[in-house]
Amino acid sequence: MLMNTSSDFLVPSIDEKLCAYQKNRISQMIRDYLEINQQMDHFHFEYCPKCGQHHPVLVKAGKTKAGKQMLKCNSCKKRFVCDHGQLTYYSHQPQSKWNDLIIETQNGNSLLHTAAKIDVHESTAFRMRHKYLHFIEDMECLICTTS
Ligand SMILES: [Zn+2]
Repeated sequence: MLMNTSSDFLVPSIDEKLCAYQKNRISQMIRDYLEINQQMDHFHFEYCPKCGQHHPVLVKAGKTKAGKQMLKCNSCKKRFVCDHGQLTYYSHQPQSKWNDLIIETQNGNSLLHTAAKIDVHESTAFRMRHKYLHFIEDMECLICTTS
């Protein structure tokens, strides 16, 4: 039997009314939300990114328009998104598109190819790639200075 992972999240009565593309879009969205929530549960801040408080006491403080969890530091009372310092920080693009972008970039595919693949404008793909490469650079710097 063929495994149909795209309909995992849908009840059969809805599932049969949607085409494969629509089901894929929906399950991608759901996976993104699940990932955000999971990140939130496991998110650990050694220092507050706003005031530098060590082991800050953080409380949930609403969500951004893109559905990202906001946290508030008890020391400085400032809010920030829970993926602060991560690739998805300050990005409207979901994690799944970032994952595809990373694969595309590592495969050396052209910007146009990447843009079509992840369904964004070429200039968006350009900015994302730029941000990713910067991110990699930062990571490498961190590894160099800590080892
Ligand atoms: Zn703080």
